[in-house]
Amino acid sequence: MAMEKILCGIDLGGTKLSAGLIDTNGRIIDKTVVFDHVTKSEDMVVDQMASMVNHLLFRNSLNESDLMAVGVGFPGHMRYRDGITITTSNLEGFKNYPLRDALMKKFTVPVMVDNDANAQALCEFKFGAGQGYESLIFLTISTGIGAGIILNKKLYRGLTGTAGEFGHTIVKPGSGLICTCGNEGCLMACACGRALPNLWREKTEAGYKTKIKLAEDFDYTMVDGKFIKKGIDTGDPLSTSIMNDCADIIGIGLYNIFQAFNPPLIVLGGGLLSWGEAYINRIRSKFYTLAKNMIFDRIDIVEAATGADAGLIGAAALAIE
Ligand SMILES: [Zn+2]
Repeated sequence: MAMEKILCGIDLGGTKLSAGLIDTNGRIIDKTVVFDHVTKSEDMVVDQMASMVNHLLFRNSLNESDLMAVGVGFPGHMRYRDGITITTSNLEGFKNYPLRDALMKKFTVPVMVDNDANAQALCEFKFGAGQGYESLIFLTISTGIGAGIILNKKLYRGLTGTAGEFGHTIVKPGSGLICTCGNEGCLMACACGRALPNLWREKTEAGYKTKIKLAEDFDYTMVDGKFIKKGIDTGDPLSTSIMNDCADIIGIGLYNIFQAFNPPLIVLGGGLLSWGEAYINRIRSKFYTLAKNMIFDRIDIVEAATGADAGLIGAAALAIE
């Protein structure tokens, strides 16, 4: 009896590298994770990816011929058609690196490489909150902001493969908040993990007081999503105010996305969603205030359903896109 072929995903991140065998329903059969890839050269990371996959196959008594393909999520810009990385702020190197060709030399099955947020969007579309929809916009809000666009059941990648970089759309010019791209007031400069130290500094300078007992060696650069989460949970007015400002800016971002795409669904994922119901409700509230009577059909704004392995599962799903 011929066994149904299985999917294989690799999620290359700035802190962890994971590989997994995934069934065609998006369920993880087995996976392996390492954290020691960050300082390695591109070629060494490729070797490591191949040996992780081979190890998974071996311990599950499978062969490469049992795989449909190998899909990879890359944490930065990709030239999708050529499988060449353009740049990433999450890893050293990987500038104009032929990642797909390098991996194809290691495998006999096809290899696909795409941006990691695109992979997550595909995962939500196939197996998560986007099931049953024709189109959706996925936004992940963590240290940075990434996104993926599903139009008519396909990932929309644009000319180069960099479509959906909503993190670099400008929402607050004149704010003094400078993005990693050098522009002022990008969504990413105002409303994700990267923005939090600056928001803390601004609020403090404006006279806001925190109830959090700060460590002796505290300085505002230590403020991250988890730090603000603790503040929110303990009723700290400064943390709550930062959360509200971030939510309002994301609400503006979603409003702009709505006007551009008129999607039936926006899915939100990423670490800052751990801020909870008050955060996502504030995002919705800002969105609906701006969109007011311009919504003619229902649009849902929901939390991602597929969790921390969305990037891994989505990378594998590139084979069945
Ligand atoms: Zn930017």
